[in-house]
Amino acid sequence: MESVSSNLAAVREQIAEACRKAGRSEDEVTLIAVSKTKSAAAVREAWDAGQREFGESYVQEFLEKLEAPELSGLPLDWHFIGHLQSNKVRQIVGKAAMIHGIDKVSTAEELSKRAEQHGIDVDFLLEVNTSREGSKYGLDPGSVLQAAEECFALPNVRLRGLMTIASPDPVEARREFAELRQTLEKLRQNAPDPTLLTELSMGMSGDFEEAILEGATMIRIGTAIFGWR
Ligand SMILES: *Cc1c(COP(=O)(O)O)cnc(C)c1O
Repeated sequence: MESVSSNLAAVREQIAEACRKAGRSEDEVTLIAVSKTKSAAAVREAWDAGQREFGESYVQEFLEKLEAPELSGLPLDWHFIGHLQSNKVRQIVGKAAMIHGIDKVSTAEELSKRAEQHGIDVDFLLEVNTSREGSKYGLDPGSVLQAAEECFALPNVRLRGLMTIASPDPVEARREFAELRQTLEKLRQNAPDPTLLTELSMGMSGDFEEAILEGATMIRIGTAIFGWR
């Protein structure tokens, strides 16, 4: 069985290779290790191998990992990457470095309200359904500009960019990643502070090379690091 640390080393090498191919610096791409359904001990193994950014998709599991003795006191950044329902916002506000899965203005409004109560500013991304598959979460690509306009006006939250889960086919995935990048460029033109809109969270175990070629700044990798779920 491959170990988490050797898997991580292999993934980092593939990221470096994709960055060379794309003519980009490795510093531009943050690797988020997606630990959903995996143990805190596995997260600890990745941490011991130098990994510092982790992603979780389910609120309950995320809260349990935060309390895990194996991880107690470790400086690491959690990203909440799952679809976030409005009624769950309260439970995770202040606990994640970035919230990736917001696809309704009403959820961003709830986040704003809770962040204000805590006296903090929260970074988040809008999730876009670039594959246009009905089964997937995410804003319709045509409605992102309008939604972002409404988000810009909210206090205590900062829209930092866009997130997507692409189609399984790598050729289609690459087209969808390009569309997400172009959508972010359009958002920047309308933003009160374009320097905040820097993040493209796209690319998973099966398609992160394509995502890096299209400008991903955050890739979310589970299986290639922690094994099959
Ligand atoms: C599970 C998950 C991932 C990681 O997927 P892998 O194919 O295991 O790398 C990435 N993003 C989101 C939103 C996920 O839920």
